[in-house]
Amino acid sequence: MNQKESSKQRLIIVSNRLPIVLSKDAGGNWQIKPGSGGLVTALAPVLKNRGGLWIGWPGSSIDEEDIDLEELLKDATQDYGYTFKPVPVTEDEEEKYYYGFSNQILWPLFHDFQTRCHFSPDYWEVYQHVNQKFAKVIAQNIGDEDDHIWVHDYQLIGVGHALRNLGITSKIGFFMHIPFPQLDIFLKLPWRFEILNQLLSYDLIGFQTQRDKRNFVQCVQAMSKDVKIRGRGRVLSTTVNDRKVRIGNFPISIDFEEFAQKAKSKEVEKRLAEIKEIYKTRHLVLGVDRLDYTKGIPDRLRAFRNALQRYPDLHTKISLVQIVVPSRVNIPEYNDLKQEIEQLVSEINGEFTQPGWIPIHYAFYSIDRTELIAFYRAADIAFVTPLKDGMNLIAKEYCAANIYKDGVLILSEFAGTAGQFNKHALLVNPYDIEMTAEKLYQACQMKVGERKKRMQALRRITKKTDIYWWVDSFLSAVFAYNLKDFSELTDYIPTSKITDYHELSGKSGASV
Ligand code: UDP
Repeated sequence: MNQKESSKQRLIIVSNRLPIVLSKDAGGNWQIKPGSGGLVTALAPVLKNRGGLWIGWPGSSIDEEDIDLEELLKDATQDYGYTFKPVPVTEDEEEKYYYGFSNQILWPLFHDFQTRCHFSPDYWEVYQHVNQKFAKVIAQNIGDEDDHIWVHDYQLIGVGHALRNLGITSKIGFFMHIPFPQLDIFLKLPWRFEILNQLLSYDLIGFQTQRDKRNFVQCVQAMSKDVKIRGRGRVLSTTVNDRKVRIGNFPISIDFEEFAQKAKSKEVEKRLAEIKEIYKTRHLVLGVDRLDYTKGIPDRLRAFRNALQRYPDLHTKISLVQIVVPSRVNIPEYNDLKQEIEQLVSEINGEFTQPGWIPIHYAFYSIDRTELIAFYRAADIAFVTPLKDGMNLIAKEYCAANIYKDGVLILSEFAGTAGQFNKHALLVNPYDIEMTAEKLYQACQMKVGERKKRMQALRRITKKTDIYWWVDSFLSAVFAYNLKDFSELTDYIPTSKITDYHELSGKSGASV
């Protein structure tokens, strides 16, 4: 398909949740506003340009008896140039498709936590059913001109296959926002062949990192003898049932300029001054995470404790602000994790607090953008140590907001972001508490010249490969869109070899 032809098609974005915020005004009438995330901002101009559609679940807080959501969405988005289409999900489906299969099977397994999986066959049935439901809504809304479809994330792996079964031949792209596991872990999934085949129903399967792509390729090579993968570099290809399937890696990002500009705003400056007044400490360390076992919060707290034990000169001079954003509270494990974190915070503070100095300031709530950016600016060190993470946007946001370019980023090797930031962040193995403590100490000691050099490089990478670049690179790889030339940026995606890890970890010794 040439560029001229491809520009005629509408773009249909499909995600588990619709990016909208619903609220009632003073008169009790429902109001809809689009969400404010980087993905929505980046996709809005493309959707507007093509007259697209966003399909997804509006969320369980909406009582559909109470409102005609479809009508409301149509009215509210009249001027956008694109519209939202809801997919209703019942309470039982939410329980089994979302909390069940998505968040108690795929999420833990794909983050290498197979012991946390609940492989209930019931979950699989309902996951299939809801994915088919999404496919039906897409099929009903597809235009004559064979629209392009872009499906997002692990909750909707089966949508492409369900669409093919409905006879849809449109180009369909899929992006996996979470990691893809190694063969040995993937093989534990009772529905491994079905999931792999469903993924191969797309025209492009996009992953965050080279490592995720390589894991997927290994699974395909081991599990489907007939499927041969060709090519080298960022986008590989294969043929499945006479259809070309591409496999690529596209690290997701943020709206760099938005964060950088907001970091200079008056409201952030004002809040920053207040924060500095409250936390009068030499080294302010920041952790911001959703409540999730993949984020490694207890391990980070243990590393912080280890640093206080081993480096008494840090006492009274370092404070960790740990913000935990409530998430998936319906799953019991998440509540256990909250208790574990709170127990550790209390133990560490109990052991080290001195008059006028509290080592850890802990918050369990979400904060608004101004507050978040003010904390990014206030933090001398960002402590980003997930045990496994698809990408980790906190790391990128911290760099974008770091307008004086003197912050230090401590980053887990197992965050997708490490693929881009490995040379300039202080990389840690988050399971290695002593190493993490050492890197924290090293960050505290780092001279301003080195801090600036590193942060400038991190900001340059984040700016060049921002969310607009990500959207462009995915769309051009699957639908031959040419929104912006990004070819000169591919250098920023490392050709990581496993042996690179000798350098990254700073340890010599056994090969991995
Ligand atoms: N964030 C938020 N509310 C908060 C704190 C953070 O919405 O109170 C945002 C933050 O700006 C970032 C996202 O949450 O964009 C976290 O993304 P990340 O990729 O780090 O982790 P995820 O939660 O998606 O696993």
